[in-house]
Amino acid sequence: MRLRPGLARTFGVSRRLRWLPLRCLLCGGPAEDSGLCPACARELPRNPCCCARCALPLARPAASCGHCQRRPPPWDAAWSPFRYSWPLDRLESRYKFSADLAAGRALVELWTRCAPQPPVQPDAVVPVPLHRTRLRQRGYNQALELARLLARHWRLPLRTDLLQRERATAAQTELDAVASRRNMRGAFRVAADAAVPAHVVVLDDVMTTGATLAECARTLKRTGAVRVDVWALARAPSPRG
Ligand SMILES: [Zn+2]
Ligand SMILES: [Zn+2]
Repeated sequence: MRLRPGLARTFGVSRRLRWLPLRCLLCGGPAEDSGLCPACARELPRNPCCCARCALPLARPAASCGHCQRRPPPWDAAWSPFRYSWPLDRLESRYKFSADLAAGRALVELWTRCAPQPPVQPDAVVPVPLHRTRLRQRGYNQALELARLLARHWRLPLRTDLLQRERATAAQTELDAVASRRNMRGAFRVAADAAVPAHVVVLDDVMTTGATLAECARTLKRTGAVRVDVWALARAPSPRG
């Protein structure tokens, strides 16, 4: 995907600034290569104790939380290395809503630092696609840019052609779980005559109710995927509906 000229300039400028001493994106102190200082990097909320199925933060790790037992998600496993809370939410919203690509690179650096290898080797990594209207407004797809950097780092095949956004949907953050599911129904389709690989990972930046990822997983499984895992940088503490 091509970045808007303004964003490309942002990239160019920050590349040149790499020669200057790095400042922490959160506190302004001396930073490491990740873009954060060691103290702020330590503050980031990790998510090791969670449900293996939906990555919901739990007091103890579990194969399946109560929500997943009552209503198993359409995907097979979830991986979300961070919890969506302070100060990660600040970096994420700067990346997502203010086109702060340095924040995006920092998030990828922190993710790969806590996971030198991914938990599985899928046949394809598929970022959650944005509808073209929203893509035009924002100028870039935050999930795609994360997926591009992660796939390169872990040497996984990136597929941006597989899944397409069929229609624009209301912002999920404003909806409860039931409304989210209804909102997402039929939102995606697999590209005509695309061969869907057996094991696909769908990647998003933040997972909240999981409705978006669930709809992607259903669409891929209907069209030939045998196993679908979902990966998100951060998991919001709210359960799936
Ligand atoms: Zn700092
Ligand atoms: Zn669960």
